[in-house]
Amino acid sequence: MRISIPHMGNLYIPLKALFQRLDVEFIVPPLTNQRTLSLGVRYSPEGLCIPFKLTLGNLIEVAELGAETLLMPSGYGTCRLGYYARTQEQVLHDLGYDIEMIQLGVSEQKFFGLLKIIKRLSNGASWFDIISAFRFGMRKLNALDRMEKLVQKVRAVETEKGTANRLYDEVISAIDEADSDKVLEMVEEDYSIRLDQVPRDSQDRPLIVGIVGEFYVLLEPFSNFDVERELGKLGVEVRRTTFISEWIKFSLFLNPLGIKEKDRIHKAALPYLKRDIGGDGWESIGEKVLHNKEYDGLVHLAPFTCLPEIMAQNIMPTTRENIPVLTILCDEQTSKTGMLTRLEAFVDLLERKRRGSKCDRKMVAI
Ligand code: SF4
Repeated sequence: MRISIPHMGNLYIPLKALFQRLDVEFIVPPLTNQRTLSLGVRYSPEGLCIPFKLTLGNLIEVAELGAETLLMPSGYGTCRLGYYARTQEQVLHDLGYDIEMIQLGVSEQKFFGLLKIIKRLSNGASWFDIISAFRFGMRKLNALDRMEKLVQKVRAVETEKGTANRLYDEVISAIDEADSDKVLEMVEEDYSIRLDQVPRDSQDRPLIVGIVGEFYVLLEPFSNFDVERELGKLGVEVRRTTFISEWIKFSLFLNPLGIKEKDRIHKAALPYLKRDIGGDGWESIGEKVLHNKEYDGLVHLAPFTCLPEIMAQNIMPTTRENIPVLTILCDEQTSKTGMLTRLEAFVDLLERKRRGSKCDRKMVAI
């Protein structure tokens, strides 16, 4: 059985490790690129959001490579995510691919539901092997996220721009190749030291920008025009609370730390929005309120036509907590050049604000 899953950041690395340990062939989708987008746009029903289009493009590409069993995250939320898997399965069948789509409804099934799916996919591997493979995958995922957090800090202050990105690309490959806990530990230690030693401007007090918005576009760099690396080039330190490892702990295990953080975010949003509106709209508002003293500004990533984020975009200007927000609508019609121009203008605005100059504009939207 050859299985695969669409890209979402570095998620393919722990999944590949997990399935390799269970002797299941896992096909890594080609890196999301212009062709992926074109395929997704061509075969998506009209008006769907960019996560649907890009994941559909990934699924078509892996079906071309021979994947027969496709995993697709799903959920019972109030947005379109709940229809993704069925609609995409239908599109793939219409295109002539004989695939089986398995929905990963982690919100409903939690940890044991996921383990049961893995057991089925691994032709009944022993529970011991499944749990040990799962733990190894989780270790890789945690290592990847820890490295990314370090890189977000170094990018902003490195004297030679691009050094942190180069090290990050290297460490991603090294973590991907690590075949034991010991090697994984050594890789993480080695790259933590190397990142720590990157020459930096010690006087620099970088601007801090929070990245909030819809889950997929936060995590998939192609969909957000690599906004974090671009901000790093402009000397901005990026803070993001959404990481797959933390989301998995929260969604699968109801980890107490995860709950606490989510609870804080939801509580902060309450004066402006009383309930979940699907997707991550509630969290976008909550994060603006919660972190307004720590961040100089916010970049709000919203897929075009995403109702939860449209609601968040409209509520955010009304909050008393007043930090500038740049909303970037992510879609195949958005051009990276246009996004960069606005990003530069936004950073310029934040710098002037920090220097104390008056600034009337609170919200900017692309
Ligand atoms: S949250 Fe928005 S972008 Fe994400 S699936 Fe739902 S509607 Fe689409």
